[in-house]
Amino acid sequence: MPAIFGIAIPFVLGLFASFFVDEVKRRIENRRKKKFILNYLRETVLVTSSDVEETYSLLSKIISKQTHGSDRISVFETFTAKVLNAIEAPEYFDIFQDEYKNLNEIIAIVEFLSDNLPNDIAIAYYGDINQHLKDNEEIGNIDHVTTCPYCKQRKANALKILEFRIEESQTLQKKIKALLAIEE
Ligand SMILES: [Zn+2]
Repeated sequence: MPAIFGIAIPFVLGLFASFFVDEVKRRIENRRKKKFILNYLRETVLVTSSDVEETYSLLSKIISKQTHGSDRISVFETFTAKVLNAIEAPEYFDIFQDEYKNLNEIIAIVEFLSDNLPNDIAIAYYGDINQHLKDNEEIGNIDHVTTCPYCKQRKANALKILEFRIEESQTLQKKIKALLAIEE
């Protein structure tokens, strides 16, 4: 019997030791990922979402003034949830615990806005209006756009959408700042 006892102890110790090492590794890894995510939110998402917000405002001015402006609408190719989605939900929960819900909301807004960027709204709006002018043989008639009920309705809709997107960008920035304030 002593032989079993002699084998059993180191085995149990070994099991605990490797569990402990794994746990330490996991915590270090979590801390590293958390640092990366917070840094990415601060340096990339927060900065870009403020630029995106300004561009929504710029587009709103261009559409309401109805100018053939030479203003260019930025495309924001880097504004995407791809990086944030590289980490799976259960892992996020493990890393962020109580703040998981807030982080999840942040990712959802980034996803939504990245599919509805100023550029997308501009293409949809001008594409529709230009097609409508073509169909009605009204190309080049600037007065048409200011008097036609369809064009007026379309313009009002685009401005309303832009207003919502501006609010969403502001909400996103607020949520990121709140998360950074708690976690950093
Ligand atoms: Zn029209």
